[in-house]
Amino acid sequence: MDYIVDAQATAAYADSYNQPCGCIYCQNYQKTFADAYPEVVQLLREFGVPIHRPLEVMDLFWNPARDNRRYISYYSVKGELFTDKLCLYEKDAAVTLYQPNTDAPIYKNTGMEMPYFILEISDIQLPWALPEAPED
Ligand SMILES: [Zn+2]
Repeated sequence: MDYIVDAQATAAYADSYNQPCGCIYCQNYQKTFADAYPEVVQLLREFGVPIHRPLEVMDLFWNPARDNRRYISYYSVKGELFTDKLCLYEKDAAVTLYQPNTDAPIYKNTGMEMPYFILEISDIQLPWALPEAPED
């Protein structure tokens, strides 16, 4: 067993650290993520992770073809992770689990009390779905 998850406590966690952000990049992420990554959404559901409450969503500019926006997002999960940098899913995007004391350069600011771990979704590519265009 690589981890124990308290899905109920993960779903209930809400404070200023995972308050939804209203900027256009985060709005676009929220608007398009579920349609683009149904398998990842299913995985998040099993963990109890509320998609609309990430710790952080990083917008990483356009892909080279400039038809998709690249993102990395981070979520806090209540439970214990016994193996650091555990890859849970790797296909169209990647889901990796990190221990709070990992040496990996991740975003891990959370108000969650121990024990917890950080869930990272990387290699995300999303279409732009808002009427207003990004400034770049
Ligand atoms: Zn934002």
